[in-house]
Amino acid sequence: MLDALFFRRWLTATAAVVDREAERLTELDSPIGDADHGSNLQRGFRAVATVLEKEVPDTPGAVLTLAGRQLISTVGGASGPLYGTLLRRTGKDLGDAPEVGPARFAEALRSGVDAVAALGGAAPGDKTMLDALVPGVDALDGPSGSFGAAREAALHGALATTPLQARKGRASYLGERSIGHQDPGAASSALLFEALAETAESTETPESTETAESTDGSRG
Ligand code: ADP
Ligand code: MG
Repeated sequence: MLDALFFRRWLTATAAVVDREAERLTELDSPIGDADHGSNLQRGFRAVATVLEKEVPDTPGAVLTLAGRQLISTVGGASGPLYGTLLRRTGKDLGDAPEVGPARFAEALRSGVDAVAALGGAAPGDKTMLDALVPGVDALDGPSGSFGAAREAALHGALATTPLQARKGRASYLGERSIGHQDPGAASSALLFEALAETAESTETPESTETAESTDGSRG
């Protein structure tokens, strides 16, 4: 089960990954944008990490809605309201459950991704963050879904934006000249899934290890 601490750790890990990759995100935003995506997200996720230390919300839903509000109020670019909506809607969908299973989380994240699509009017293939978010949530959802598969799928989706022509956001003003560059928002969405997989790997509990061992034992 995933509790409030898991989600706080996910967002703190995202802040760390974004810090690490901020320069690359801004470089991606140079040829097809205004070279601010890395600094936008760095400011936003640092503020998220700070507010989560101060307020320490005690349900997954409250962690995500607080983080979403913080992104919306600290990030000026298009990505602030979009990522803010992603987290806020996901949090709202989880309600006030004290813990959620991975399948329930995948379902809530799906509603968050749908809200991003509704807000931005974009669909997969438009060369936006949705090109990583949609495959990521697809790979998380369903009986064989996993955090590791979601990380791979989102990364693959982000890389696959390079040959696309942008149809939404600032990059779309460039028309055909947007072809040949990876979308910065898709790259940062892949980082959200990377941080999620890292968090899941580092929170494998002694309890789940015991269960795995006893299952192995009973099989032999
Ligand atoms: P801005 O474009 O205002 O400078 P950022 O540079 O922070 O904002 O974010 C740019 C990213 O936001 C793009 O690479 C793209 O992935 C995403 N984006 C922009 N517009 C949309 C939209 N309408 N729908 C989905 N994502 C979008
Ligand atoms: Mg920009």
